[in-house]
Amino acid sequence: MTHQAHTDSVFQSSPESLDPADWQAFREQGHRMLDDMVDFLAGLREQPVWQPMPAEVRGAFGEPLPRAPGDLHDAYQDFRQLVQPYGVGNVHPRFMGWVQGGGNPVGMLAEMLAAGLNANLGGRDHAPIEVERQVIRWSAEMLGFPATASGVLVTGTSLANLIAVLVARTRALGLEVRRDGLDGRALVAYTSTEAHNCVSRAMDMAGFGTAALRLIPCDANHRMDLSLLAERLAQDRAAGLQPFLVVGSAGTVDTGAVDDLRGLATLCRAESLWFHVDAAFGALAMLSPAQRPLLDGLGEADSVAFDFHKWAQVPYDAGCIMVRDGDLHAASFATQPAYLRREARGLAAGHPWPADFGPDLSRGFRALKVWMTLKVYGADKLGEVVSRACTLAQRLLERVRAESALEALAPVALNVVCFRFIEADGDLDSLNADIVADLQESGVAVPSTTLINGQRAIRIALVNHRTREEDIHILIDAILAAGRRRVAQA
Ligand SMILES: *Cc1c(COP(=O)(O)O)cnc(C)c1O
Repeated sequence: MTHQAHTDSVFQSSPESLDPADWQAFREQGHRMLDDMVDFLAGLREQPVWQPMPAEVRGAFGEPLPRAPGDLHDAYQDFRQLVQPYGVGNVHPRFMGWVQGGGNPVGMLAEMLAAGLNANLGGRDHAPIEVERQVIRWSAEMLGFPATASGVLVTGTSLANLIAVLVARTRALGLEVRRDGLDGRALVAYTSTEAHNCVSRAMDMAGFGTAALRLIPCDANHRMDLSLLAERLAQDRAAGLQPFLVVGSAGTVDTGAVDDLRGLATLCRAESLWFHVDAAFGALAMLSPAQRPLLDGLGEADSVAFDFHKWAQVPYDAGCIMVRDGDLHAASFATQPAYLRREARGLAAGHPWPADFGPDLSRGFRALKVWMTLKVYGADKLGEVVSRACTLAQRLLERVRAESALEALAPVALNVVCFRFIEADGDLDSLNADIVADLQESGVAVPSTTLINGQRAIRIALVNHRTREEDIHILIDAILAAGRRRVAQA
């Protein structure tokens, strides 16, 4: 469906404000945008997953700051021609390269409603904050946390992990650390070699330094080796260091592995260490009866970081940090300058505020798209999305095993499959990197690469709710064809 040619008068704002002089013309333009985006989502499967951006398109972003008014219609045409066709492709059913969510149409509408309200969720007493509080209570329920747990929505798991490191720091050093800083104290933390790089960045940003993060080796299933962890802890204590935090992974980026969370919880309790879990995408497996047992022990954690924008398919961005001890969480961040004074009544009531649980003061209404996604689809349906992705991962693994030209490189715990093309002599690493780039440029599917035990792997992360079994076969057929084409040309 295409809309009629642009005939209306150009967008004009009223002389007194930024609102349109003609609301009716604005309304019509808005309806066209909505129609176009609905067409875009409905027709995704027929579009290339990704296409390289032509030089003219890239060059069009070089225009200087516009000083004079422009037309809304023209700006929208720029969006249609320069932006929309050159996205990363994560909305597409055959985007399988990285752990990214596909978004959802309900979340898209919620984003428009949220922008219309333009609520600031730093604090004060208003309904949008109750929406976020409800999302946090639902998150506690999903994770198996007590109702007294606290939480806050943030950009993503990177920031959520940083918040967890800072709360763990307060637990280890007391509230004085907020005034006195680390003061030379040698705190050390632990995670596995497979942990996401943002854990190391969190240690950097929190002032501990990345060297204070011990990377514990993994077993053959890419899970942290708990006996090596215990050894390293004893060694560090003997050296006079102060261990304070262990970060487990529930769903690693490279292979989807889940650490032994119950074992980690038990060890952390015995050793008086803060137990944090990076469950960026894995947390959603709590909603899938088939996968939930893998996460046994998650509810015992002191804190959990996860994203609604990955497996929960909420549009970017929407991450979440949950902390079992809500008082300690607030004590780690809350400040009350006079201009943020809390009152018992009026608009400044409703303590604690979301701003008390993290570094942000002004905050958007991220909660609405999460709330509407959960209300409209229901948690069980999101659990089915998780189950289906895991089933597709097993189908993919079966197909890889059935093809003599392919070799599986890692066990499949959840939704990530790593393998490579081996029907060739010579440098398999560069051949597999070329196959992946060939597929990306073809627009047929987007895989990525990673290193598994030092070997270049084709990595497939199945996250998108639109992916079907036929997409798995389209992917494998395209990989085989690209590999054989390259071998024939060599
Ligand atoms: C994606 C991811 C992160 C980072 O989360 P962002 O939302 O991108 O900040 C951290 N850990 C894991 C395991 C991830 O998959």
